[in-house]
Amino acid sequence: MTAAHTSTSSSTAGTPGANGSATTGTAKISIKNINKNYGDFQALNNVSLDIHEGSLTALLGPSGSGKSTLLRSIAGLDQPDSGTIIIDGEDITRVSPQQRGIGFVFQHYAAFKHLTVRENVGFGLKIRKRPAAEIRARVDELLEIVGLAGFHERYPSQLSGGQRQRLALARALAVSPKVLLLDEPFGALDAKVREDLRSWLRRLHKEFNITTVLVTHDQQEALDVADQIVVLNKGQIEQIGTPTELYDQPANDFVLGFLGQVSTLDGKVVRPHDIRLGRTPDLAVHNHEVAETSVINATVERVVFLGFEVRVELRETESGNPFTAEITRGDALALDLQPGEIIYARATRPAALIQSTASVNN
Ligand code: ADP
Ligand code: MG
Repeated sequence: MTAAHTSTSSSTAGTPGANGSATTGTAKISIKNINKNYGDFQALNNVSLDIHEGSLTALLGPSGSGKSTLLRSIAGLDQPDSGTIIIDGEDITRVSPQQRGIGFVFQHYAAFKHLTVRENVGFGLKIRKRPAAEIRARVDELLEIVGLAGFHERYPSQLSGGQRQRLALARALAVSPKVLLLDEPFGALDAKVREDLRSWLRRLHKEFNITTVLVTHDQQEALDVADQIVVLNKGQIEQIGTPTELYDQPANDFVLGFLGQVSTLDGKVVRPHDIRLGRTPDLAVHNHEVAETSVINATVERVVFLGFEVRVELRETESGNPFTAEITRGDALALDLQPGEIIYARATRPAALIQSTASVNN
C-alpha cells in the first residue's frame, strides 16, 4: 500500500521533524500519512511520525485526541483507512498483530485469573512451544527485573494494582518483542505508585533499550520518562520534540498550555515561574534573562505553599486580570506576602530561550 492519503489537512506541525529533532537517528517505526475515521469522525488526520530505534516515545494529548487509535494502529489492533506503517524497513500495514513482533500493555491488564504469575508470564513462550527449562529461566529473569521475584506462585488476585501492571510488562517482554507499546499502563494507579512505576520504567528501558511507545494524557509522566514526545490534538500532531524543546519552545499555544501551567501577565502568556515578584519596582532582570513585560502593580490574593514551590495568586491592580506566579519557598518567606497587599510583578525569560518567544507568538 502506498502513502496515498485522502486528507486535506492543513496541519503544518504534523510533519516529522517539525521541531528539527525527529528526522535524525534510525527509524524503528515509520508512520506515514495515517488516516482513520469512525463514521464521520476523523480520529487520525494525516499523521506522520518517525520513532527512533531504542527510544522511549510518549504519545501525549488530551482524552479523545487519537493516542490509542495511533498505538493500536501500530500494533495492528486497528486498521487505518489509509497510510503506511513501517517497522524495521518493512511495510507491515496489512500484517496481522501476531506477526508484528510487538508487546502491548493496556491500562487494565487482564491476566489469566486461573494461572499463577509464573504461568501468566510464561504463557506466550509456552504457546510458542519453547522448552520448559528455557521458559522457567526466562520467567525467573523477568520477574526479577520487574521486581516480582518471589511472587511466582501467586495468582493475579493476590497482587496490588502496581504489581499487576508489572506482571503485564513481564508478560509483554517475555517473547522478546521488537517494540513495546504501552497504553496508559499506570493510568488506573494512585499518584505515588505511578511515580514509582515511572522511574522503574525508565530504568527498565535503559536496561533493555527496547523501542517503546507510551500513551499518556499526563504531561508530568511524559516529561519525566520520554526522550521524545509527540503531542496529539484532535487527531493531528501539534509538535514532536524532546521534553525540553516542548516545554521551552512550544510550537503553538496548544502545546504551551498542555505542557505546563500558563499565566497571562500584561497581555503576555508566560510560565508562572517566569514571573518575578517584589516589594519595590526595581525588579531585577538578571544577566541571563530578558524582560518580557514592564513592571506592573499586582494585588496578592492567596499564597499557597506546595513544598519547594509557592504558588502566589494575584490580580493586576489596574486591569483586574488574575494571574498566578510560582516562586521558591525561600523567596516567599523573604517577601512575606499577605493577601490584599499591592506589590510589583514582571515577567522575564531566560535569554537562552529567546528564540521560543518568536515561535510562541506565531
Ligand atoms: P485517546 O486515546 O487519545 O483518548 P482514542 O484514540 O481512543 O483517543 O479515540 C479518538 C477518538 O476516536 C475519540 O473521540 C473516540 O471516541 C473515537 N473512537 C475511538 N475508537 C472508536 C470506535 N471503535 N468507534 C467509534 N469511535 C471511536
Ligand atoms: Mg486512549
